[in-house]
Amino acid sequence: MKKKINRMLVLVSVLAIVMTMGMIALVYDGLFRSQVISDLEDCARLLQESRCAGVPMESLGSSLRQSGIRLTEVDAQGEVLYDTEVSGESLENHMDRPEVREAFDTGEGEAVRISETLSRNTFYYAVKTADGNVLRVAKNAESVYGIFGNVIPCILGILLLLILLSLIIAGFLTRKLVRPIEKLAENMDSYEDFAEQEELIPFINMIREQHENIMRNAKMRQEFTANVSHELKTPLTSISGYAELIETGMASEENVVRFAHGIRSSAERLLVLINDIIRLSELDSSEVEKPFEELNLYELAATCVEMLQMNAEKHRVRISFEGCACSINGNKQMIEELLYNLCDNAIRYNNEDGAVEVKLYEQAIPEKCVILSVKDTGIGILQEHQERIFERFYRVDKSRSKSTGGTGLGLAIVKHIVAKHNARMELQSEAGKGTEIKVIFPG
Ligand code: ADP
Repeated sequence: MKKKINRMLVLVSVLAIVMTMGMIALVYDGLFRSQVISDLEDCARLLQESRCAGVPMESLGSSLRQSGIRLTEVDAQGEVLYDTEVSGESLENHMDRPEVREAFDTGEGEAVRISETLSRNTFYYAVKTADGNVLRVAKNAESVYGIFGNVIPCILGILLLLILLSLIIAGFLTRKLVRPIEKLAENMDSYEDFAEQEELIPFINMIREQHENIMRNAKMRQEFTANVSHELKTPLTSISGYAELIETGMASEENVVRFAHGIRSSAERLLVLINDIIRLSELDSSEVEKPFEELNLYELAATCVEMLQMNAEKHRVRISFEGCACSINGNKQMIEELLYNLCDNAIRYNNEDGAVEVKLYEQAIPEKCVILSVKDTGIGILQEHQERIFERFYRVDKSRSKSTGGTGLGLAIVKHIVAKHNARMELQSEAGKGTEIKVIFPG
């Protein structure tokens, strides 16, 4: 990147220098030409007046020769009558010279002829005199390109100097620009270095945010892996323990049945846990997008409540459902899972003779939405745990969760499903009184 910036800056400065010089040459050439022509015009007018006053050509010519001006007199047929440099007879007819022809036609004429080498120009100005002849003055002058040719070594020297200077400036600027980025790559907290380059601050903020997200995700993944290993270890250890007791023949016949039951329930626990982990990783990956469809939420909630009726009775809890016919756009399997997890929790974290009320209703203000509420009269959640219960493997009372078959992943799955449906959740809970979780789906 540094090299690229350096190269670009040098290229831009060389281009700027060359273009400026070209422009100066063009403008200067124009100015120079008009100046020489205007001088020659003044001179020609003076000569015209002197001729009228009868001053002989020879005396006019000799005074002009010293200032490098050539004077020529041409008659109406184009024959050269007088020339300061060559004798008139040896010069060919001048009628074909544009400045002479123009002077005969309009009274005055001018021309510039460029020499073959491009380094010298000859400027001509011709005026018609009272006696019908044409007086022409000419001056050789170096062209701007010729002048530039002479100073090329000097220009090259300046060019080199400027390139060197722009290299130094480019180096300085790129170092100033790149250094904070390099520092940031070494240490993400070296933020103050950008105080001077405020244009970079939005970019740096974005990088920092992404970096923080990556770090947070990496930490979460690490914690999740450690938690998963820990959660898997407990049922596996008990399976292995029971099996060992049976294997070594240390278990009596009736204990074998008890141990076999222990093995089965630990294996079931493992299966539930693995299922939840798989569900979470499926919800995590954005690659497999589940199809959404118009869902009859009333029907799904009624089915779920009916399905959990037996389970509720087992816990001596009453579960009821009421609501209006509402439909949402969602994924059927996910919504079934969401309903199951919320109702199952409301039953499991309830008290004997407690109640669970599932309600479904629509609301139009402040915005149109469908609200699913699962309210229980259970143990409730202390304020300090309320934010954390949606984290993976977070349980308020670990033993109660485990004894009722909880994995600590139910609400984490619910949170994911809610996010996928652009819905939001509201939790209201008081320890000892009960909990209400509302899921608000966009209308
Ligand atoms: P678990 O499998 O342990 O139930 P969840 O993710 O479903 O895991 O819930 C996380 C924790 O939140 C539970 O362990 C429990 O402590 C608390 N919790 C969830 N729902 C309720 C509820 N309705 N009443 C009281 N506590 C609840």
